[in-house]
Amino acid sequence: MKNMAATVIENPPVASKSLFVPTLEELVKVLGSGLTSNFETVFVEIVDCPDLTKEPFTLACKGLGGKPRLVEIGGPPYLLPLVRREKLYNMSYIGKLTDVEPSFLIGAGAGPWPYAGVNCEMIINLEVNGGKVNNHTRISKVDTKDGSCILERLPDTETRCALLANIFCSEGKPGKVLRISCKKRIGKDDFIASIRKSLQVQYKEKAVGLGGTFLLKEGKAKQHIMPEFSTEPINTDEEVEKWLHFYNMSAPLIAVGTLVSADPGLDLRLQHFHSFGHAEGGHYHIDTEPDNVEYLGYFAVGEYIYRIDQPTDTHHVGRD
Ligand SMILES: [Zn+2]
Repeated sequence: MKNMAATVIENPPVASKSLFVPTLEELVKVLGSGLTSNFETVFVEIVDCPDLTKEPFTLACKGLGGKPRLVEIGGPPYLLPLVRREKLYNMSYIGKLTDVEPSFLIGAGAGPWPYAGVNCEMIINLEVNGGKVNNHTRISKVDTKDGSCILERLPDTETRCALLANIFCSEGKPGKVLRISCKKRIGKDDFIASIRKSLQVQYKEKAVGLGGTFLLKEGKAKQHIMPEFSTEPINTDEEVEKWLHFYNMSAPLIAVGTLVSADPGLDLRLQHFHSFGHAEGGHYHIDTEPDNVEYLGYFAVGEYIYRIDQPTDTHHVGRD
């Protein structure tokens, strides 16, 4: 089952584009007004990033500052219709590929199946400083006995990811960030889609990218975990829904990932956040108790998007 020696792609192709970077002051106005269509209570402000290594966030680095970039690796075309097992990467080289060293990486991706012994979700959260790794990354997988979630933390020696990932990369330094807090959902969009669509209305085809973390403080969230790779081809979103395992996970959940308001021609996944709690973790879809829900997020604005090993043969299945 475990195949520790599976080969990692050492020099994946990399493309990059600059993103549109509005001032934080402007984003406070745009989001402060845009989010009110989806949440009853909305506060957006500029703050010094709190120490994210502390509770409740418990991330690998203190801040989101220093060379902020969005990174997308691979994509759903490497998972569907059938898995491409050779699509295995090492997060320890992302800092070098994007000129961010040391690098603080947070985000959502597919976990290292050779380590886990099975396909899994990954909640990326690590610092790479030269050869030193400070890894707080979690993986979550489906317990084949009863369908429950198994959450585990990866050791510092395991830095691989598979198939696809959306990562916010920075030097992990302190600095000014956007603080977004929302309570009681009155619209149909999840927290991230609400931010993304507010930006899209304002900036149209200009791509604005945010990355960071948010806490689901109260309520529950619909999240999925991928089971073992399908041996039958998966060709539609309906088949993806049938294949995935869905859960209603309880707050507190700590989510990490990226969003972008428009695709500057790099075949991007527009939003992707994974979250973990004490015993569960997975791919965030939406909160399920809109009356009780409470979010607190800290976000930084990406200056560039880096596209690593972009699929040439692409499709739009499995991007929700
Ligand atoms: Zn995901």
